[in-house]
Amino acid sequence: MNLEVKKASGIYITITDGKRYIDLISGIGVSNMGHRNHRVANAIRKQVGKYWHTMVYGEHIQSPQVKLAQKLTSLLPPSLNSCYFVNSGSEAIEGALKLAKRFTGKTKIVAMKNAYHGSTHGALSLMNNNYFTEAFRPLLPNVHFAEFNNEENLNLIDEQTACVVLEIVQAEAGYLAPNPDFLENVRERCNQTNTLLIVDEIQTAMGRTGSLFAFEQYNLVPDIICLAKAFGGGMPLGAFVANKNTMQCLTDNPVLGHITTFGGHPVSCAAAFENLKVLTTSGLIKEVSKKEELFRNLLQHPEIVEITGKGLMLGVQLKSKEKLQKTVDYCLQKGLMIDWFLFAEDKLRIAPPLIITLNEIKKSCKIILEGLER
Ligand code: PMP
Repeated sequence: MNLEVKKASGIYITITDGKRYIDLISGIGVSNMGHRNHRVANAIRKQVGKYWHTMVYGEHIQSPQVKLAQKLTSLLPPSLNSCYFVNSGSEAIEGALKLAKRFTGKTKIVAMKNAYHGSTHGALSLMNNNYFTEAFRPLLPNVHFAEFNNEENLNLIDEQTACVVLEIVQAEAGYLAPNPDFLENVRERCNQTNTLLIVDEIQTAMGRTGSLFAFEQYNLVPDIICLAKAFGGGMPLGAFVANKNTMQCLTDNPVLGHITTFGGHPVSCAAAFENLKVLTTSGLIKEVSKKEELFRNLLQHPEIVEITGKGLMLGVQLKSKEKLQKTVDYCLQKGLMIDWFLFAEDKLRIAPPLIITLNEIKKSCKIILEGLER
């Protein structure tokens, strides 16, 4: 895009020449409360005035981490009661994979085709796309790929499997919503085979799909949930959350099973705590389905094949990649930031901050439709 950012506020990003854009992608699912929410900004200022980094994660007791862990676990099912804070989504996935291997004593991993879980070696091993992985081989061995929403592939999950990793709404595949039966059957198959179910909610959580966590809309509870992106309220933070009994095994044999210097940085945790408080008391999550409906109603055009996804995580399937490029360019020209996906080059990505108003949605859709006309 090549835009030099000068300022960002609410749903708007202003560049150095003064032009202002509506941000319809939230920095890829990060700015759910908009840019620089004032309460989150105040929480950051307050923590900056007390202390920043004092010691590697876990060595000192730091109240922003403790408060965030208490808040987060109070919002999750009782079985998800132990948090490990990290720096990013990829690191949350790394931690979850290590935890599953250590806890089960098994090494086989089942991931989904067209998933994206991050760019570090472990996370990249969960990607079945050769173009993105070939240059970095060898990756983790014994990773098997099932098709998302295809129950026939579930026999890949067997007694040798340590974990299944999946996103509730597949993000980089182009925002693909799950078939509820599929998720239920994965959960069932994991139970039968003593396999841990790792749910990557790095992009789907924090209200994005119409509930605080997307899994809440389906009949399953993960064994490990991974968070990042919007979780930090705009600051770098990730987490993997599991049952205390499971998490405990990272404390011995070897001691310090996962180590991170900056994981759970107190300034990020203070921001995340305030962000969670604002988000869960704002009423914004309840408005997501109404906003989704408005996008779906307005975005009707002969060039649009279908709209996939859930909540404010929508993939607009166009007839061609060329049309998409032209539409994205037109939107940028008119002050609207939209984007595409890693594995769906003919789809527009729509994931605005949840604070977007109905009028702003109407304005954005008008620009997209004009772009499609060209
Ligand atoms: N999982 C999902 C679903 C993601 O969308 C991303 C980032 N796009 C990641 C994991 C990796 O997160 P990070 O970039 O913070 O490492």
